[in-house]
Amino acid sequence: MARLRPQAHALEPNRQIPVAPADNRVLVAGAGPVGLVLALCLARRGHRVVVVEKLVDLLDQVRRAGTIHSATLEMLDDIGLYERLEPRGIVAPLVHYWDRGDPEPIAVFDHGVLAGDTRFPHALQCDRLKLVEEALKMASSDDLIEIRTGIELTGFHQGPDSVTASVETADGEHQELRGTHLVGCEGAHSVVRKQLGIDFEGFAFPDRTMTLSVLFDFDSILPYGYRNYILDPVEWANLFRWTDLWRVVLPADVNADPDALLDDDVIEAGLQRFHPTGEPYEVVSKSLYTVHQRVAETFRDGRVLLAGDAAHVNSPIGAMGMNSGIHDAVNLAAKLSSVLHGEAGDEVLDRYVRQRRHVAVAHVQAITIRNKKLMAESDPEVRRRNRDELRRAADDPALAREFLLRASLISSVREAAEVL
Ligand SMILES: Cc1cc2nc3c(=O)[nH]c(=O)nc-3n(C[C@H](O)[C@H](O)[C@H](O)COP(=O)(O)OP(=O)(O)OC[C@H]3O[C@@H](n4cnc5c(N)ncnc54)[C@H](O)[C@@H]3O)c2cc1C
Repeated sequence: MARLRPQAHALEPNRQIPVAPADNRVLVAGAGPVGLVLALCLARRGHRVVVVEKLVDLLDQVRRAGTIHSATLEMLDDIGLYERLEPRGIVAPLVHYWDRGDPEPIAVFDHGVLAGDTRFPHALQCDRLKLVEEALKMASSDDLIEIRTGIELTGFHQGPDSVTASVETADGEHQELRGTHLVGCEGAHSVVRKQLGIDFEGFAFPDRTMTLSVLFDFDSILPYGYRNYILDPVEWANLFRWTDLWRVVLPADVNADPDALLDDDVIEAGLQRFHPTGEPYEVVSKSLYTVHQRVAETFRDGRVLLAGDAAHVNSPIGAMGMNSGIHDAVNLAAKLSSVLHGEAGDEVLDRYVRQRRHVAVAHVQAITIRNKKLMAESDPEVRRRNRDELRRAADDPALAREFLLRASLISSVREAAEVL
């Protein structure tokens, strides 16, 4: 592992800025799904938490994640979030794999084979914003959690017993907040990770990904399920059903002008290529991403930690980013709590890093890179082999269980528990 650069001190020593007392509270940067779940888990263990979020209105967050896997549903259930989300989502026990243009799926995996492994043998199709909204409601009514929106973390410094975070309000006022620890949950562009000089090792795929929310019943054309992975060497696709919308994910040329790719006529042409209807599609939202596969070289420096996209990012194919970030939050909350209660030394936080970094590299990166390759494979012989393997796995309950244990991240949680 490369050595960390010395930590930059973003605060000027003699600035007259009010510093709130530490009060044994934990500072969390970012009120995305990971920051909010971390706050809820810490509060359940009796710890005070302050979450700073740069957005003024949290629901301004971009629509992204939509699939919540079995392992995550159990964790959300443990903190009372599942019962709030299930009525707002779609219970999806099946995953369909297709060859683009074929009238029948290659394979259909049924989470029913996981009945002995999880109390949630299904995924939940549920917009990430609904998770944020429900978590926010819970956090807002918890006396131990303070959510401060319109506040951006700009830097921090660590002392022997505390961390002082430097923040800026929406109207440009500087403040300082002190806590026992700071957890950077502020996404892929994490200020915390950058200030610590932690490398974000990995690569970007040489194409872009277009994500569209479309009001159209795609299952009136083909017997699509709620989650569909559609293989094609030229233009693979993912198709997901949300409550009222379908999410269509398509590859886009990295060399093309992003504005041109997001042009309504270009999007309409892409959707008509995907499924010709002769009628214009109703596109509710559109966004374009460059997909990175990266894992921070460490998730900890002293009293400062990273979780979620701040620590690792990956292709959305397989729906693992938010899920594994929530797993980070649950794992970290338990360890941080044991340190704060004086039940463990802070070396237990290094175990958090070992466990969750192992999952990020050996599970999430490996599976999402493989998924992307599977979608876009162009070698006819490899494509044939891939299809055969998918069919064989879906038809054999033991193989299907193995496949879904990995896909639903249950095996990653089990394996992390073995990492000392
Ligand atoms: C198209 C697409 C589809 C996806 N689908 C799925 C899926 O189905 N399932 C899945 O598991 N994952 C999915 N993902 C990945 C998922 O969206 C992310 O992994 C997840 O949102 C990460 O959550 P987070 O809380 O770590 O970070 P974020 O969701 O990025 O939240 C970070 C928060 O921090 C705030 N913030 C940023 N900087 C600061 C600062 N300096 N100070 C204070 N606040 C700050 C931001 O405003 C934001 O609210 C998808 C991603 C994409 C691009």
